[in-house]
Amino acid sequence: MVQRYDPVSIEAKWQARWEADGLHHARDFDPAPKWYFLTMYPYPSGDLHIGHWYAMAPSDAAARFKRMQGYNVMFPIGFDAFGLPAENAAIQHKIHPYRWTMDNIARMRAQLRSMGAMWDWQREVVTCDPDYYRWNQWFFLKMYEKGLAYRALAPVDWCPKDNTTLAREQVVGEERVCERCGTPVIKKNLEQWFLRITAYADELLDFSSVEWPERVRVLQENWIGKSVGVEFELKIAGYAGVGFRVFTTRPDTVYGMTFAVLAPEHPLVDRLATPDRKAQVEAYKFKAARESDIERMSTEKERDGVFIGAYALNPMNQEKVPIFIADYVLLTYGTGAIQGVPAHDARDFDFAKKYRLPIPVVIAPPSWDGAPPREAYLGEGTMVNSGPFDGMSSAMGWHAIADSMEQHRLGERKANYRLHDWLISRQRYWGTPIPILYCPHCGTVPVPETDLPVRLPMDAEFLPTGESPLKQHEGFRKVACPNCGGEAERETDTMDTFIDSSWYQYRYVSPHEPDRPFDPAPGAYWLPVDQYTGGVEHAVMHLLYTRFWTKVMRDLGLVTFGEPMTRLFNQGVILGEDGEKMSKSRGNVVNPDDYVTTMGADVVRAYLMFIGPWDGGGPWNSRGIEGAQRFLQRVWMVVAGRAASKGGASPAPSPNGTRDL
Ligand SMILES: [Zn+2]
Ligand SMILES: [Zn+2]
Repeated sequence: MVQRYDPVSIEAKWQARWEADGLHHARDFDPAPKWYFLTMYPYPSGDLHIGHWYAMAPSDAAARFKRMQGYNVMFPIGFDAFGLPAENAAIQHKIHPYRWTMDNIARMRAQLRSMGAMWDWQREVVTCDPDYYRWNQWFFLKMYEKGLAYRALAPVDWCPKDNTTLAREQVVGEERVCERCGTPVIKKNLEQWFLRITAYADELLDFSSVEWPERVRVLQENWIGKSVGVEFELKIAGYAGVGFRVFTTRPDTVYGMTFAVLAPEHPLVDRLATPDRKAQVEAYKFKAARESDIERMSTEKERDGVFIGAYALNPMNQEKVPIFIADYVLLTYGTGAIQGVPAHDARDFDFAKKYRLPIPVVIAPPSWDGAPPREAYLGEGTMVNSGPFDGMSSAMGWHAIADSMEQHRLGERKANYRLHDWLISRQRYWGTPIPILYCPHCGTVPVPETDLPVRLPMDAEFLPTGESPLKQHEGFRKVACPNCGGEAERETDTMDTFIDSSWYQYRYVSPHEPDRPFDPAPGAYWLPVDQYTGGVEHAVMHLLYTRFWTKVMRDLGLVTFGEPMTRLFNQGVILGEDGEKMSKSRGNVVNPDDYVTTMGADVVRAYLMFIGPWDGGGPWNSRGIEGAQRFLQRVWMVVAGRAASKGGASPAPSPNGTRDL
């Protein structure tokens, strides 16, 4: 008699057997070639959805394939356990974030095990465990020693609903709303901790030693936003020795400058404004001060400004150009001043039209007839009206003018970056405490390494006040200064959870290592990660931060390489049956557990593998999964039927078997 295909009992039996045999435990130092296969670890939301399955089942299949090819494969898993939802649950449901998180992890472990994947559970990492986050603190102290962690007063994006600072990438869309809750983001000035990721900006643009998708590389390049140009000084007419600096990516257009603009807050404005312009200047400054940076930078807004009565001198020809103040120039961005070249910059063109400023062409387009321009010309061409540089190609003129400015000490070549330093302070409880004390006598004092970890107090109170519970917790906040013994205060901000995921791949190497972030001996065997997989939505956050972190680790002598993951693959997205993104409000959410308990995990896995190319994804199809079910039933009948007819011996593949399928 051939036994019917009963996935529920078959899968449970074999999963228990694999577990008991330690089948999936990766062996350190095995002589077989190693393959470190890593899939982005999940956030413990408490429920394994179809997106997790599509991220993990195909990566498990790929890891198995590598093992079948003879590699010693490490395929670890853990939980990205800090973050806002746990704290919101604490406020709403009066459950401690630790309890909420660990309950969710327990539920998800069971769901993940039902997938039948080959994860090495002995290496599990949970980032809210003090044995893990103490190393976040240790890394922070190392960066502080090296000048890579610093504190500064800075305007930050702030979500008034979540009461938290947001990283730039957590502010989404033209409307600049909070990524989490959709509330319009406002600006607020706070003392914040930053990591100096900009120190690695140039190196982060180099992808020569990794095989990463073009799409992610381009996203990171744009995010870093390197622009090369010249920074030079504009002297003020009638003021000996007074000037301000501007940056341009188009030094070839400098002869076309017909005005200059200062940020309204620029320190020179009060000094330079002439008495007849004072009232207008003051009124404009007042108006600008009430606007947010967002309003000021908006591309929708019509550009306006006020002439302050003073003139700057073009360093190349000593021509006088009027100085304006305008709110679209920010003191905190670049030099806080710009040159206005209306013929070759769209924004400057509009400004010059509005204030009837001259618009001389200095880069002639290929078929230019000498007519006044109707719009700014941004392309390359031949230099005209540019003194000794006339007749050069603009590309050649770019360097000729840069050289001339450098020779005459008027300015120098410089690179500017769009990338800002990484703001890591969060006014939240459920994260890694920043290991810093403030002492009235000694100032900012790093917590001594021997006092790590700085633990989160378990008895914090969670109230919907918006203040971090750590701020209200006297026992946590008040501490003796390790320098002078006097009364000091702890930093109450916690770290951005992207720090946790910046180095978790190293912890898997030796998850129980007590004295170091990871043990270098197995590290030398396993690292770096050979294949990483996960969603492309992490392209400019996690995937940039972990590269930065690895470069810092290299400079600390902890690893010998500069890139954390040699290969990267981004899976696609499984949509609802209607072809739309799955969401509760649309009612098109597919719950994988429903299928696992009836059809079995292997059917769900097989279906996901056949839905299309892994980086494509596509809509869920309930008839499609029935096809996968019938296919596996047929496999079972053929194999089990043959085994029965041969008295239980395992069947050899045969041409007939293929036909039966
Ligand atoms: Zn929000
Ligand atoms: Zn002190």
